[in-house]
Amino acid sequence: MGTPPEGKRPLSETDVQYVKGVGPRRRDALAGVGVRTAMDLLYYFPRKYLDRSRVYKIKDASAAILIPEEVTFVGRIRSVQVVRRGHGRSMMFIRLADETGTMRCVWFNAVQYFANAFKEGEFIAFSGKVTSYQDQPCLIHPDYDHLEDESDEEFLHTGGIIPVYPTTEALRRVGLDSRGFRRILRNLFGAGDYYEFPADPFPPNIVSTNSLPPLGEAISWIHFPKDEKQLGYSLHRFKFEELFYLQLLLAIRRNLINHSPGIPMKSTGQLVEKLAAGILPFKLTESQKKVLREIFADMKAGHPMYRLLQGDVGSGKTVVALIAILTAVENGYQAAFMAPTEILAAQHYSTISQYLAKLGVETSLLVGGQKKNLRDQIYSAIEEGRTSVVVGTHAIIQEKVKFKRLGLIVVDEQHRFGVMQRMALQEKAEPAAAEPHLLVMTATPIPRTLSLTIYGDLDISIIDEMPTGRKKTKTALRGESNRDKVYKFIRDQVLAGRQVYIVYPLVNETEKSDLKAATQSFVRLRDEVFRGLKVGLIHGQMTEAEKNDVMTAFKKNAINILVATTVIEVGIDVPNATVMLIEHADRFGLSQLHQLRGRIGRGIHQSYCILMTEDKYLDEWKVATSEEAVANRRLKLFTSTSDGFKIAEYDLMLRGPGEFFGTKQSGMPPLKLANLIKDRDIIAQARKSAFRLAEEDPHLRDGKHRWIKETLMKNYRESFEFLKAN
Ligand code: ADP
Ligand code: MG
Repeated sequence: MGTPPEGKRPLSETDVQYVKGVGPRRRDALAGVGVRTAMDLLYYFPRKYLDRSRVYKIKDASAAILIPEEVTFVGRIRSVQVVRRGHGRSMMFIRLADETGTMRCVWFNAVQYFANAFKEGEFIAFSGKVTSYQDQPCLIHPDYDHLEDESDEEFLHTGGIIPVYPTTEALRRVGLDSRGFRRILRNLFGAGDYYEFPADPFPPNIVSTNSLPPLGEAISWIHFPKDEKQLGYSLHRFKFEELFYLQLLLAIRRNLINHSPGIPMKSTGQLVEKLAAGILPFKLTESQKKVLREIFADMKAGHPMYRLLQGDVGSGKTVVALIAILTAVENGYQAAFMAPTEILAAQHYSTISQYLAKLGVETSLLVGGQKKNLRDQIYSAIEEGRTSVVVGTHAIIQEKVKFKRLGLIVVDEQHRFGVMQRMALQEKAEPAAAEPHLLVMTATPIPRTLSLTIYGDLDISIIDEMPTGRKKTKTALRGESNRDKVYKFIRDQVLAGRQVYIVYPLVNETEKSDLKAATQSFVRLRDEVFRGLKVGLIHGQMTEAEKNDVMTAFKKNAINILVATTVIEVGIDVPNATVMLIEHADRFGLSQLHQLRGRIGRGIHQSYCILMTEDKYLDEWKVATSEEAVANRRLKLFTSTSDGFKIAEYDLMLRGPGEFFGTKQSGMPPLKLANLIKDRDIIAQARKSAFRLAEEDPHLRDGKHRWIKETLMKNYRESFEFLKAN
């Protein structure tokens, strides 16, 4: 390797093309996956590992058919054969050989592309689920990885582990498949004398408290682990890192809030007492009282409230918000109440303005689509402080809205607002002096690991009790063959004075064909099935005014049966509605079903949720595919429980956190290695260390935290604009 040059070059300043084996062509391909410096290459981690315990001999392939997991076969390609099938389609067969026999791998399409990827004689690993094809064990469209004859063979035979790197077509074209990556990484490690490897960003106390391997070792082990143990240590370290920075963001945010001046409110209780004395038609539940005590304590303290109110659908969160709002008003401040949809904003407005009017409190509604004149009037009423409470949608946080004395922001159905929106909201609404109190409300029961991450900067209050006198909603799963009976049941309910929702799936509000289906069904229901009853329609493509008219009519029972898309999913409150019929229930996610079911069972009457599906979903023996089996299980689980928490955990397990919250909506920085469900313990560790650090050095000014600060700034800059100021 010759003598090392005088000073070593830092990896982060070395263009990746100078790593031995890279060069300009590969540099361009690497740029496509965000690898620009030698340091980036070091942090280009394997996506999985081949280990010997999962490698099968070909003679055992038949037995492997019974194994539900993926297995791997390693051998040489004996032949590559492409068979034309007509219509421009073709199949490809590869015969793989090891010392115990041969087996086939089959590709049904994209053959042209794959055919070029394999050559006779190559040493290769194929991974997949073994199935039977033409009575022979075989792999269909297996995952593949080119191996190096000597070193990888040695790895496999000594029980080693081979890293498999994520690649793209562009990378493969310049020879950067997994094997290519292993080579250039080995070159990079081999040239250690020329480069300055990155310093460990963590100070020794964090490393030792959490039993992390030092950075240098962790990096070399993640690329070239000798055994499971090394790999385990190394993965632990990088998962910890990922979660640590996430928690640090939350911790710093939390810390700033705790130390920034708030608006201390001395709750005089006058308005609240008046409300309770004669205006509110019910008594608060113990649970509602408990969360209100927590909220009052925050609003009185010297720093801003930053609290999440969690309570299942129908638990009565709105009235809690109303009382918090009254507390702000009593103290001479304005309050903003934000909802995710205009329908919901209008509903909140009509509910709370009734109460507030009786107390002499001025309330305004602010949504998109209002006439400019009206809107300007509302703006100036807010700015001059003539209106005390503003209910609305995102429109409230637009630049033009200026509050005179904003003291409290309530955000309803928080899961539509992510971490980032939450911050934007607070920063926008921020008056010169003190930050207003913030109360966010959600009906999504949040599994604990998520409440520590997505909501990890908030204090949490939970309403865990339903108002008394409610009857438990009955849920039934019905197929097409029951349809007439279901319609008869609905008619009877309406004749008894109740109201009904019939919901159609509309995955995307702009999906024209779905909307057409819902609209056509509406016409048929109105003119044929339920002739003589009043049937209404509501969907997302209607104007706000139209939607409002329909909702008002439904509230007054001028509409008996409301045919709807999921625009009614969140928050709608019509206690006289007792039937929720969900069409194509198999197409809805669990949390969505739970939200929909939450629209009924809100009054004194027995309520019924009916899930309509094709008959095949009724019976686990009739489902034909694994998706159908999952849908069947999901529907069964849903009919068996009304426990929102159970439903959420199951949903989270089925869909993963990204889907669960909607990837964009969650506002979470994406996690590459850590898993929010499986890595609970690491989350707890990372959180502890991060919060301790933020307490100790909130602005990360200490020299020993320099690297942490730099990494944080580099990776999360957009998330934390305000860090720059410190
Ligand atoms: P959510 O928590 O789903 O937002 P809402 O605030 O819409 O629930 O309340 C659901 C229904 O329960 C409303 O009709 C509301 O008036 C009623 N409600 C709220 N609190 C109580 C209570 N303590 N006793 C009886 N009914 C209540
Ligand atoms: Mg609500």
